Amino acid sequence: MGNYKELIIKKVDTSLKGCVTLNKKEIALDNTIIGEVVNIETEGSKEKEHVTKVQIITPSSHRVKPVCPVYLKCGGCSLQHLEYAEQLNLKTRLIESLYTPFKVKIEPTIGMSNPYHYRNKSQMVFKFQKGKLVSGFYEEGTHDVINFDKCYLQNEYCNIIIITIKELMTKFRISAYDEDRKTGLIRHVLIKTSTLNEVLVVLVTGSDNFPGKSNFTKALVSRCNKITTVIQNVNSRKTSAVLGDKEYTLYGKGYIKDILLGKTFKITSKSFYQINHEQTEKLYQKVIELANIKKDEVVLDAYCGVGTIGILLSSNAKKVIGVELVKDAVMNANKNALLNDIKNISFFCFDATPFIVNMARSKEHLDVLIMDPPRSGSTKEFLKAVLMIKPKRIVYVSCNPKTLYKDIKLLEESYKVISLTPFNMFPKTKHIETVCLLKKINNHKFI
Ligand code: SAH
Repeated sequence: MGNYKELIIKKVDTSLKGCVTLNKKEIALDNTIIGEVVNIETEGSKEKEHVTKVQIITPSSHRVKPVCPVYLKCGGCSLQHLEYAEQLNLKTRLIESLYTPFKVKIEPTIGMSNPYHYRNKSQMVFKFQKGKLVSGFYEEGTHDVINFDKCYLQNEYCNIIIITIKELMTKFRISAYDEDRKTGLIRHVLIKTSTLNEVLVVLVTGSDNFPGKSNFTKALVSRCNKITTVIQNVNSRKTSAVLGDKEYTLYGKGYIKDILLGKTFKITSKSFYQINHEQTEKLYQKVIELANIKKDEVVLDAYCGVGTIGILLSSNAKKVIGVELVKDAVMNANKNALLNDIKNISFFCFDATPFIVNMARSKEHLDVLIMDPPRSGSTKEFLKAVLMIKPKRIVYVSCNPKTLYKDIKLLEESYKVISLTPFNMFPKTKHIETVCLLKKINNHKFI
């Protein structure tokens, strides 16, 4: 028999889970909201006491019924139980509390009008499980697949494609890949959609050999006629990465195009592309506004991906330099510059840290730095080089408020944080994207 305790959710942790205090320790609980009274069942001695069950006694007025039937199991969108407006408030408050030391006004989190089906990229695993072909996401920490036919975050057409692929796999007797035995064929399906109504489908297979691939592709494209390209990607390694190196185009051009703020971008299976189109346009618009580039200014777009931000800024600038680690992304960035007839931009395939350290050593001039690093943030060496080059303005786009904090703390000796705007790029999830403007301190004035 466990112990039962009635407790109140007093705060949230940085992943926005409600917390209770148990034996002077803070414990985060899924699916809870600040202000709620919960009854928890615990097991174990005082030192090792852990929660085994949570029952909501007094629900919050902000609690709503999640639309997704696998919500509690999946955990992909952990805030579905909270009213959307309150999700945005919660994110604003979290940024406010994290950034109190900077004494800067935090703007309200920018949200979406319809916060569902916003993902233009979806990735599903296929498996033969308990005598049935299933597709979905891995249950956290396991290789068990949560089977579902509809994800409320994905573009609705992706859901239709996945159901069709499952039906066709049965019809054509194509099996799902078995990781342990290394048998079977289809491991994952990756789908990317664009606002130009183009759809890219990647069938990730465990081996090169795909019997009946042309009939399968024909049937898929005729059933889902919005698909404009189909790729076979081969991944035979025992890995959690979805894509392997080898690819064959089975149908169409092998890529799709999308439009962002009037510019065209090429999207391939491997290159990074922002997954929420509506919010990306708002975020990039904000970056352009804050960067406020003048005609004679030189800009560095660090961690540039396929060059989106640099390309969008280029018409205001004298020159833009983009740096990115992934070769495929840099190739696409160059193609995107050509596609949009942009001549004052150059992309370099390099680790951003040695690249900027080198710029500092050779005393290169830079007026504005745009940086959009991965979740781990930037590096000390990168930031030290920034302090040597001293660009007038820095616009930092961050997908992790904790690493943004650590990085801008290092820039504080020469920069002041002017504004912080959280963006809801991933509604219903715990993630927070933030755009931060920093200006160089110049005799106590900012330029
Ligand atoms: N600004 C782009 C991409 C942002 S995602 C956009 O808005 O689309 C972060 C990018 O940083 C990814 O493309 C990733 O490949 C790249 N990256 C990760 N580590 C890097 C490093 N050390 N140096 C340069 N680029 C890196």
